[in-house]
Amino acid sequence: MSVPVTTNVPAKATAPPLRHETTAGNYFVSNYPPFGFWNPEFVPDFQAALERPPAQPGTRNSELETPLTHHASRITPLGLYAHIPFCRKRCHFCYFKVYTDKDSSEVRGYLDALLAELTVYASKPVIGGRKPRFIYFGGGTPSYLSPDQLRFLTDGMKRLLPWDEVEEVTFEAEPGTLTDHKLQAIRDLGVTRLSLGIEHFDDHILEINGRAHRSKEIARAYAYAREIGFPQINIDLIAGMVEETEDKWRETVAKAVEMRPDSVTIYQMEVPFNTGIYQQMKAGGKLVAPVADWETKRAWVDYAYREFEKVGYTVTSGTTVVRDPAKVKFVYREGLFSGADILSVGVASFGHLNGVHYQNHHEFQPYLDAVNAGKLPVYRALRPAADELYLREFMLGLKLGSVSAAHYTQKFGTDPRVQFATPLATLKAWGFLTDSGDRIGVTREGLLQIDRLLHEFFKPEHKTGRYA
Ligand code: SF4
Repeated sequence: MSVPVTTNVPAKATAPPLRHETTAGNYFVSNYPPFGFWNPEFVPDFQAALERPPAQPGTRNSELETPLTHHASRITPLGLYAHIPFCRKRCHFCYFKVYTDKDSSEVRGYLDALLAELTVYASKPVIGGRKPRFIYFGGGTPSYLSPDQLRFLTDGMKRLLPWDEVEEVTFEAEPGTLTDHKLQAIRDLGVTRLSLGIEHFDDHILEINGRAHRSKEIARAYAYAREIGFPQINIDLIAGMVEETEDKWRETVAKAVEMRPDSVTIYQMEVPFNTGIYQQMKAGGKLVAPVADWETKRAWVDYAYREFEKVGYTVTSGTTVVRDPAKVKFVYREGLFSGADILSVGVASFGHLNGVHYQNHHEFQPYLDAVNAGKLPVYRALRPAADELYLREFMLGLKLGSVSAAHYTQKFGTDPRVQFATPLATLKAWGFLTDSGDRIGVTREGLLQIDRLLHEFFKPEHKTGRYA
């Protein structure tokens, strides 16, 4: 049932114009409060959170209850994220902390550190006997590791926190690193969801954007991954890479449709400050990135969505289409978006435990030094206020297209139509809101630009005033 609310937003208003050009900066909303507000002074809050047992319904942290809690227990579910920061080459659009120059002994030292870090967490009260429900290997390039290195890492992880209750293990892979032998090893260690970083099928586009792989490697890796029966294969694409054209994008979409992956994640190209593309812009005194404007990128994603829908896929978020939503889940995203604990290990990785966000040291050596000294390598943290946790979860829910008002009312104690009356009225005035029965959501047009719309929900102190 809709709750009538009063706001100062006029019934009809014009949305801020689609800014045509792509300029430097982060566009996507992936957490809240924004990372820039996480601070070293809050690390003691994180350390204190580790000494408490996991949240139970009825305590302050019961607001962290998630849909996943209904499975086996009513304790907040636990997920693991392991960051593998190695790549064969640095892509020009990459903004992650990656290393292309580490030899096998340095890689082994890093894997030892991951396990040492996990060992410290495994003995903390925050784990409370929980076993991970989902695991995510991200990077960087997890498939950069050899089969032996992968077995060493995962055997160690399983000894510390057994995987017998795991519902999903996701593993990011760069097609050019995948021999048949390695794919089999990845399958054998328990990976259920293989995520292939394809990005594009045109060899010139791949090359000019600094990708290490080519289209031939995509075809070979995908065929073998299918043959050995990964339960789910996701492919990543990027709309708006350097030198992208309408025709090339259409060809890429056609090839992706022909592959019939279980899911497809399509990003719109953003150009953060720590990318090679931005360095080139700076050197040339340019303010506008040499990639398509935002309106074009949204049109390209919309085109891809419509092509996939023609063959039966369903749009399940601002970045995803899924072949069979009844079968294909993404447990990691479900947990991340609904307040699960995410124990994150590795250089620069982000996690969330017992109500506190945290991030590890973002440079290799300080990370290793901290772990080797027997300390947790956390360098900044933030304990969000209860209203910020609500805001975070509601915004992330909207990225999926629509949410249940009753779910949030039950979990956070206030109807979202009351809690977020002003930004919802703004979205409505701009023509992007859908509100019917229990469901609050956004139109397709809104979904294609959801990240800029979410800035309307930010608390005033967190607004940057930036619209893309
Ligand atoms: S493969 Fe991924 S993580 Fe590695 S450099 Fe390219 S974009 Fe960055």
